Amino acid sequence: MADGSVPDGVTVFANDVPAVTKLNPALLDAVRKAAKDAEEKGIQFVVNSGWRSPEHQERLLRDAISKYGSKKEAARWVATAETSLHVSGDAVDLGPAKATTWLAKHGAEYGLCQIYGNEPWHYELRPKAIRNGCPPQYPDPTKDPRLQR
Ligand SMILES: [Zn+2]
Repeated sequence: MADGSVPDGVTVFANDVPAVTKLNPALLDAVRKAAKDAEEKGIQFVVNSGWRSPEHQERLLRDAISKYGSKKEAARWVATAETSLHVSGDAVDLGPAKATTWLAKHGAEYGLCQIYGNEPWHYELRPKAIRNGCPPQYPDPTKDPRLQR
């Protein structure tokens, strides 16, 4: 858990799980606010991944390379430790589908935006979204200029 791995069923309100507590405080705040409002509709936000240590990220990347067969294909799903927005604490992967469906509709009100078309669970904070709505999504992480380092 200290490396950012997440046991099953951890909610965004957990205060003893580094994957949650080491998120950027502004992102965590927004996610908890949204989760509180969603809860009133009977929807619970589960954290499938949040902050990750560089070592944990490297392990995920190695796993993805063996799963997808090449570094290039793996890059569509998993970033390197140097570029991952999870390692910097700026991204959270949420579930279940009920929660991400709710977020797709209401997330912008909290500044929470889906960034990649192929990752409906991956959310980052975009404070301007509260006024302007979320920016257009990248089809997948390989199109994200932040990950091209
Ligand atoms: Zn993610």
